[in-house]
Amino acid sequence: APSLSRIGREMSQLSGVRAIMKDIIETLRAGAGQNFIDLSAGNPTLLPAVEQLWRDCTHELLDRSEYGAVVSRYGSSQGYAPLIEAVVNDFNQRYGLNLSDRHILITPGSQALYFYIANAFGGQASDGSLRKIVLPLSPEYTGYSGVTLFEDALVAYQPALDCDDRAHRFKYRPDFDCLQIDEHAGCVLLSRPCNPTGNILTDAEVRQIADLAAARHIPVAIDSAYAPPYPALNFAPLTPQFGSNILHCLSLSKAGLPGERIGIGIGDPQLIAVLEAFQTNLCIHSARYGQAIAARAIESGRLHEIATEIIRPHYRQKFAVLEATLDEEMPSDLPWYLHRAEGGIFAWLWFRDLPITDWDLYQQLKAEEVIAVPGSPFFPGLRAPWAHAQQCLRFSLTATPEAIAEGMRRLARVVERVYRPA
Ligand code: PLP
Repeated sequence: APSLSRIGREMSQLSGVRAIMKDIIETLRAGAGQNFIDLSAGNPTLLPAVEQLWRDCTHELLDRSEYGAVVSRYGSSQGYAPLIEAVVNDFNQRYGLNLSDRHILITPGSQALYFYIANAFGGQASDGSLRKIVLPLSPEYTGYSGVTLFEDALVAYQPALDCDDRAHRFKYRPDFDCLQIDEHAGCVLLSRPCNPTGNILTDAEVRQIADLAAARHIPVAIDSAYAPPYPALNFAPLTPQFGSNILHCLSLSKAGLPGERIGIGIGDPQLIAVLEAFQTNLCIHSARYGQAIAARAIESGRLHEIATEIIRPHYRQKFAVLEATLDEEMPSDLPWYLHRAEGGIFAWLWFRDLPITDWDLYQQLKAEEVIAVPGSPFFPGLRAPWAHAQQCLRFSLTATPEAIAEGMRRLARVVERVYRPA
């Protein structure tokens, strides 16, 4: 076989959660006759009203002369002009901003934005030193483990924990005593709301991180894949933060268009120009059909409306079912903690002093025909050993309420057995 380059080796490895997905797919395939409750999925639920919106936008596009110019023409690397204009107008109006088209970049999915920024500012610097890609609060999105061409550059920081022992709830907070955004940092990356935890960093926490970075002219990418105005999967208040060193990153994946791959970066024109050139070199531009239907959905206000009236209540209700079932079924004298539900499409559970690993707990749940995702792949870039990283599970809220409730009942039985073997 031809020998791989260093980057070739790096990029031909799949990150942690992909390995688990393989195990999950094989389990589901092998157990075709069994009644598995699959609480692992990252694919958003297909909601009829959301699908109808995209169908309607497609019909409108087909009926217009614009169609040929959309699919049969190359476009600018920056993105399809009507989508850029729709985003500029919407954000200026909604948040009182003063954006121009030069503040926007459309990418094939938001994952691409993180790849561009991580490698444009992180990794090997021109003087040979290594510039860090700082994840201020671990756990974080597992997809970040694959964004850098220099694995050693990814550095995450252990958080502080706010625990409510009686209520069995907790919340992660950035630990500013240990967080370092210093001369070795190249960029900062965080998700808000966070996948896997549903955590929303407060406005003050985001400002503090952005100010630390601004002092060194370091860009901060705020991954808003679950944030308002679309898909608006926040259950707690969230005010998007903008600033000269902030790249605000949107994704339409959780608003019903994961397959069309649409990411939107909003930031300072100088920063956007760097990322746009990166994109031109990599793939020329994002596909235009998805951008054309997205432009219509945003410009008409329908996307925001569907997000707040359909998508957000759907997941909030699922979370309520999960929470109520856990409170009812889980042994109240065991140290289990549910992360506060502030947003997203997942629930994150921590089992303090868990006698086995998260991977073993995942296996025992599988034996009860419930599939969760072990928590350990969600600590990309965290170097220091931390027992907590092997004590968590992620549950998807994309299953039906009945499946979620039954899954939590079985989890309670497994947890009882694990902490108190007969
Ligand atoms: N960021 C977070 C926090 C996510 O959860 C996801 C997808 O699950 C992504 C980014 C990737 O999104 P996209 O489909 O826009 O590349």
